[in-house]
Amino acid sequence: MKIAHHLDDATLVGFAAGTLAPAHSIVASAHMALCPQCRATLHKAEAIGGGILADQAPTAVSQTLRAATLASLEGLPVSAPKKPSAPLKAGALPDVLVRALGVTSLDQIKWHRKLPGVAIYDVPLPKGTKAKLKLLALEKGRAMPDHGHGGEELTLVLKGSYSDKFGKFTAGDVADLAEDVEHQPIVDSDETCICLISFDVPAKFKSIWARLAQPFSGM
Ligand SMILES: [Zn+2]
Repeated sequence: MKIAHHLDDATLVGFAAGTLAPAHSIVASAHMALCPQCRATLHKAEAIGGGILADQAPTAVSQTLRAATLASLEGLPVSAPKKPSAPLKAGALPDVLVRALGVTSLDQIKWHRKLPGVAIYDVPLPKGTKAKLKLLALEKGRAMPDHGHGGEELTLVLKGSYSDKFGKFTAGDVADLAEDVEHQPIVDSDETCICLISFDVPAKFKSIWARLAQPFSGM
């Protein structure tokens, strides 16, 4: 797997600090399971973050409190991953996605077919979670309309490929887009392109379905 598109440093620092929303953490963690480069950057971010915390906090967090905090996270159906999953064998889903999706293969996803050539699966997250997490399956030639975000959006390609003004995105690539970025991904693989997308503002996606019904015209 050759990965050309990576997580932003800001996202990696947020992941290291535990401040990313769970939905974004899951996408970031799944990418890092596939990407040695981002795992290495994360380790640097953690080292820097640890140094800052050590400077700011003369009294260390007690081991008891730390253990209690970690234990309280265990019971959540999907908690923000503390660490990226282990490196992955080709074709397998990262552990973090096996847990989040409740399947071991994308073939087992119970898709909700919205329109011809377009299917979606809403990934369940703990109540009160701000960002949303969805799997999106688009057939060849389908385009997502230009859309701004109104919040951070992370897209991880799991299968197939798409292209937009930032280049071609194949399996393992992540698009880490700030809120002011607009783009129009177009599926260019023969096989269906499956992406995992986390985003902050669900309303921005509502109007997309009607426009997805139109195959990309090339205009
Ligand atoms: Zn990467």
